[in-house]
Amino acid sequence: MGIAVVQRRRRLATSSTPVHAHAPTGQPGLAWDGWREFKVVQRSFEDPARTQCSFHLQPLDGHALPAFRPGQFLTISLDVANGTTDARTITRCYSLSDGPDPARYRLTVKRVPAPHDLPEVLPGLSSNHLHDHVRVGDVLRAKAPSGRFYIDPDESVPAVLVGGGIGITPMMSMLSWCLANQPRREVRLYYGLRNGDEHAFKARLEELAASHPALSLHVVYSRPAPTDVQGRDYQHVGHVDVELLRRTLPHGRHQFYVCGPPAMMQSLVPALAAWGVPVADIRYEAFGPASVKLPGAQAAPVAGDAGVEVRFQRSGRTLSWDGRDASLLDFAERHGIVVESGCRSGGCGSCQTRVLEGSVRYEHEPDHDVAPGHCLLCVGQPEASVVLEA
Ligand SMILES: Cc1cc2nc3c(=O)[nH]c(=O)nc-3n(C[C@H](O)[C@H](O)[C@H](O)COP(=O)(O)OP(=O)(O)OC[C@H]3O[C@@H](n4cnc5c(N)ncnc54)[C@H](O)[C@@H]3O)c2cc1C
Repeated sequence: MGIAVVQRRRRLATSSTPVHAHAPTGQPGLAWDGWREFKVVQRSFEDPARTQCSFHLQPLDGHALPAFRPGQFLTISLDVANGTTDARTITRCYSLSDGPDPARYRLTVKRVPAPHDLPEVLPGLSSNHLHDHVRVGDVLRAKAPSGRFYIDPDESVPAVLVGGGIGITPMMSMLSWCLANQPRREVRLYYGLRNGDEHAFKARLEELAASHPALSLHVVYSRPAPTDVQGRDYQHVGHVDVELLRRTLPHGRHQFYVCGPPAMMQSLVPALAAWGVPVADIRYEAFGPASVKLPGAQAAPVAGDAGVEVRFQRSGRTLSWDGRDASLLDFAERHGIVVESGCRSGGCGSCQTRVLEGSVRYEHEPDHDVAPGHCLLCVGQPEASVVLEA
């Protein structure tokens, strides 16, 4: 089972204006309900270490794909069999890593190893399955693009895209879309990574920077290898932090889009707010466990252990909520209750469960539109005793 941690993704502000994607071929199609089948038509590694692999997907039904908002993700379902576990179906989210195209989607997946301190634990199920077993010609199931982390289509506002590690994927989508549709919009990409071995999309980014004067590229290596050359492979040493942004950004309003590992999210997002960037101009998404706290943000009170009971009706279990878990999903998993989940951040709706009695609270309103009478386990906590259908 996946790691029992909570990921939080908070939208500070988004635009409700739909993106008008001028895709290169045909007309964009309509979004779909439920699962749709896609054939993998191409696979390619994006980094020299071959830990980040792109999968190009074409719909089996041959119909045009909807023009998603650049920054959104796909929820995919995979049947995985792992040496020590029986075959099972898992759900995960992956950002679309290229601009909208009615003919195909691209996802880029980083292989996730077992944690260094827990070698007995299995490596990441989905990412390793995709890398090791999913080949050209194979079929994957995906839900329609979703998520509220996407670029504001107002081209008068310069965009500052900050991607850390595999957090570069939504930035590639935003960047491709901006350069194709808003070539005069100022876009700055800050890409933080360890060294040249992990440098994904290098040739593509350099080509885009060379051909688009409105794009400025800042590649930041934290631990350059002896073979990496500053000025050729990367521009800065260290991390993408407010100091670097202060030094390199011109004065004026910018909209910041941040996606990266927990350390980046937890330091950079509050630092931007502390620097004076209005919260409406800071948008972020975490792929992993990242609980971002902004100055002045009010933490929702957590139900303690004062007699709060959680009943999982289908599983026939009634358990005491002791406040140790960040979410009902973590709580269920800790007690061996199997529930479906995907993004673990309130975005994909995979863990949506009917609330039969009582109510569930959220620290931040989930991005996914929760159906009436239901809750999202991955970001929910019981308000008082509650009966859930799961
Ligand atoms: C909106 C969104 C967009 C995303 N976009 C991308 C993207 O573009 N590219 C990308 O690569 N990823 C992306 N992700 C992350 C992706 O969804 C998966 O979380 C990631 O691939 C890991 O999934 P996995 O199944 O491989 O690992 P999991 O099986 O979920 O395991 C994760 C980690 O937990 C460890 N673990 C497992 N069991 C235990 C245990 N009992 N105790 C301790 N540790 C344990 C595993 O070894 C592994 O290190 C995105 C996530 C979200 C929410």
